[in-house]
Amino acid sequence: MLYKRLLNIYNSTRCHEYYPIELIGDLYQFVRSQIVRGKQYINPYSFAQLHNMNVKQVIPFFLYFSQEDGVFDVIFFFDCSRPTCYSRIMMDEKEVHSASAEDTVTCQECEKEYVIHDILPFLKAYFKLKPHIELEPNNYPFTRSDSNSTYEAFKGLPDHLKQVSPSSSDDQSRNIIDEGDFPTQIPAKHIFEGNVDGNGHIISPMIAKFYSELPFIYEV
Ligand SMILES: [Zn+2]
Repeated sequence: MLYKRLLNIYNSTRCHEYYPIELIGDLYQFVRSQIVRGKQYINPYSFAQLHNMNVKQVIPFFLYFSQEDGVFDVIFFFDCSRPTCYSRIMMDEKEVHSASAEDTVTCQECEKEYVIHDILPFLKAYFKLKPHIELEPNNYPFTRSDSNSTYEAFKGLPDHLKQVSPSSSDDQSRNIIDEGDFPTQIPAKHIFEGNVDGNGHIISPMIAKFYSELPFIYEV
């Protein structure tokens, strides 16, 4: 069950050192609302907006729940660049890591061919609920935060997370949060950057492995 799993991960990882427990109920309700609306992907940016978080707070939070035994799969993909084609080319781990300098991938929609190494810097990611995870029954009691007080809950965050406010100089992060209509896609760079906690510990070994084996080096 999703909520129990979230709570379990919260308590058994360092997540509880950085985030208030009320966010677990909030995350559960958010995921539930997305699933009920038929959304295929769970958008951390929308969650961030609802709970006064920014990119640097929300991506690490989501990554705690994106491990092998977690609740989310992180799916990497690339948008086909042909203007009339809106297709997405999913990139699985093996395909990315075993690619030689010449290996290509073909858009299944328009058949445009890409050299895999060339598209790696433009990878994006989705968070998706793992298929076997079920929601709790409707009347299950959850801890939830009062939406007005959530910001207060972040007072306990380590300094490097607190400092990032809407007036931060991180323009890219700010723009994504300020855009009203949130893109569901997350630049892979944000995922790799967010995969470390306030004390330098890796959050998701799976993501760290994916990153370390990339033939392309992101500047994170
Ligand atoms: Zn295409």
